[in-house]
Amino acid sequence: MLISVRQEIDSDYDVTIIGAGLAGMTAANILGRHGFKVLLLEAHNKLGGFATWFYRDSRQHVFDISLHGFPAGMIKTCRKYWNKEIADSIVQLKDVRFDNPQFSVQTEFTKTDFTQKLIEHFKIAPDVVTAFFEHLAQMNFYDQNQMTNGELFEKFFPGRNDVVRFLMEPITYANGSTLEDPAITYGIVFSNFMSKGVYTFKGGTDVLIEKMKEELLKNNVDIKLQARVEKIVTENKQVTGVVVKGKTVKTRAIISNGNIRSTVLNMVDEENFSSAFIEKAKNIRLNTSSCQVYMGFKAGTVLPKMGDLVFTSSYPTYVPERLLDLKVSSRTFSVYYPEDTRPQDPNARAAIVSSTNCRYEHWAALSKDDYESAKAEMIEDTLKGLEKYFPDLRDHLETVEAATPRTVERYTLHPQGSSFGTKFEGLEVSMNLHKEVHGLFHAGSVGIIMSGWLGAANYGVIQSNEVASYLSK
Ligand SMILES: Cc1cc2nc3c(=O)[nH]c(=O)nc-3n(C[C@H](O)[C@H](O)[C@H](O)COP(=O)(O)OP(=O)(O)OC[C@H]3O[C@@H](n4cnc5c(N)ncnc54)[C@H](O)[C@@H]3O)c2cc1C
Repeated sequence: MLISVRQEIDSDYDVTIIGAGLAGMTAANILGRHGFKVLLLEAHNKLGGFATWFYRDSRQHVFDISLHGFPAGMIKTCRKYWNKEIADSIVQLKDVRFDNPQFSVQTEFTKTDFTQKLIEHFKIAPDVVTAFFEHLAQMNFYDQNQMTNGELFEKFFPGRNDVVRFLMEPITYANGSTLEDPAITYGIVFSNFMSKGVYTFKGGTDVLIEKMKEELLKNNVDIKLQARVEKIVTENKQVTGVVVKGKTVKTRAIISNGNIRSTVLNMVDEENFSSAFIEKAKNIRLNTSSCQVYMGFKAGTVLPKMGDLVFTSSYPTYVPERLLDLKVSSRTFSVYYPEDTRPQDPNARAAIVSSTNCRYEHWAALSKDDYESAKAEMIEDTLKGLEKYFPDLRDHLETVEAATPRTVERYTLHPQGSSFGTKFEGLEVSMNLHKEVHGLFHAGSVGIIMSGWLGAANYGVIQSNEVASYLSK
């Protein structure tokens, strides 16, 4: 049932999910299917979390925020935990491009194609390439592997900044990983992406989330939007309810899909946790945030075939810190050809979204005027960067605007607008939450590997199993 904004919640629940991101929704769907009484509470006025979109000019333009590319594993996850219709709409992005001062390469972003490029374009010995991929494949989350990304690349490709850029830059763009992060995070994220290429949802995020909403309702999940949970209520270190708009709703278990730091440090009374656990939660580092420029084109505009996903940079070499600069030199263009992205809509307009990984503190420090001019400058620089691939774009452009880490923070409640959750240490706190407070679980972007569309959805699966066995005890 969809509980309207004004309607009171008048039931008790087996499980309440705080937040309707991909992890929260997937967990809610599985638990609803199992026959548990599930309440899904979302602070925003729509489902999806970061898997979201917005309209402009009376819906003539639609912009997808995070539908840029995800691994093939999403097909299996959607088929098993959502439905066939959703899974069948997932299609491969065939044309991924890199363009920077060190190389211009087109790839299908598969292991086979990457192997070929490393050997033929970058002239790496075939046995080294094989050894590198074998090493990635053997990486195991449970091994105490202390190697960093930087050490991993130095081991296989010493002194080859161009190769590191080819292998690492998409991941830095995607989730802010640096050469100092544990190599296991790279191993898992990149192996996922590389096995079978990069995929997208045909129809657009709005269509996907509507289909997910229908499925949730079919599985008897109660959904309430604009319902920000203020507090998690406990008794004797056991969850008993959530407070929404001053009213307590009783529940036997909770999955928080909010940020793990906010969940532990802001939503639950501190006395529920051991001091060691609180210390660990306080030490979790947040991931970086995102800037985006959304460009919508006039009716009838035919975009040049410039690729589906284009990783561009004007910076001479690969320096992860430079990717995060306020003065952007690197950006990823997601190109939405209307006939491919929204074939169901004959009036769909062409759109391009430029994404950049960036630091919250750079943007938070700006005064109102400086913030506005920094945004205007970012838009202008993005248009200039895009003109290389679409020379007369300004003749076709109808609407353009920008989002910054401040925007991300406002809409998603993630502290500092963190777009991929937390660094690696967040995973341990998230997974052990239920050992501190009985019945309290977390599912959402943490630890780099449990983030992104697939990571978040799969983490929802893992945690829904934990909750099901907890409730069945
Ligand atoms: C610009 C950008 C581009 C991206 N591109 C890609 C990409 O190409 N591929 C990819 O795989 N991933 C991408 N991602 C990342 C991906 O979108 C996220 O990792 C994933 O969607 C996160 O899902 P989640 O379940 O962690 O929840 P989130 O999306 O973080 O959602 C959490 C939800 O909880 C709600 N909430 C929080 N606190 C409360 C509360 N107290 N009460 C009620 N509700 C609450 C929030 O409103 C939100 O809706 C991108 C992210 C960004 C920002």
